[in-house]
Amino acid sequence: MSKTFAIIGLGRFGGSVAKTLSSMGYEVLAVDRNPQRVQDISQIVTHAIEADSTDENALKALGIRNFDVIVVAIGDDIQASIMTTLILKEMGVNKIVVKAQSELHGKVLYKIGADRVVFPERDMGIRVVHNLISPNILDYVELSKDYSIVEIIARDFFHGKTLQELDIRARFGCNVMAIKSGEKFNIAPASTDIIHEGDMLVVIGHNDDLKKLQQKADRDG
Ligand code: ATP
Repeated sequence: MSKTFAIIGLGRFGGSVAKTLSSMGYEVLAVDRNPQRVQDISQIVTHAIEADSTDENALKALGIRNFDVIVVAIGDDIQASIMTTLILKEMGVNKIVVKAQSELHGKVLYKIGADRVVFPERDMGIRVVHNLISPNILDYVELSKDYSIVEIIARDFFHGKTLQELDIRARFGCNVMAIKSGEKFNIAPASTDIIHEGDMLVVIGHNDDLKKLQQKADRDG
């Protein structure tokens, strides 16, 4: 059986999570204390209900414990976000993912038992900056404080060479996980595969090593 989700807080982030899950065919319960927000999403998700998530009885009445994942997407009202997370935790829900406004907010959420904390604005800011400072970086995903995955466009430095010739692992300490050529995705690149101009390389590594590779790629074209 597929997973079920409850989304609390239907601002831009929570609304987007709820709509995306629904479009992928998942069962979604959408909750907000603002009746207009509930009304706006009611045709899209499985159930849309007006409730204040800081009210324990209201959450119990929604049967929130039966959902596999609860996403708390209350941004501005930090107190409501923390109280909601705490109540959910005490109710013994399966998995709680919470949107945080700041590092400190995130720390508090982890302390009270959130399973995962997300920082959409911060993360998107970081991704956009990586794309802005390097014309060859298409996307950037932070895996941890030290490790990331980047998508690099292959220009002169890579062009016409095999992975063996480039020797990225030995020279830069990074791993090429996949090569995208036009619409074709090669997810198990061999050392003899030749990289063509405009191909996209998906590279995993330590941030310092990825930076060196990125600078080399920028310098050489
Ligand atoms: P975003 O930054 O994702 O765009 P936003 O700034 O539009 O969000 P926020 O103030 O972060 O809005 O709140 C997100 C939603 O959470 C709002 O629709 C708000 O009504 C709802 N919300 C806030 N507190 C509660 C609560 N205690 N119970 C239920 N919903 C709540």
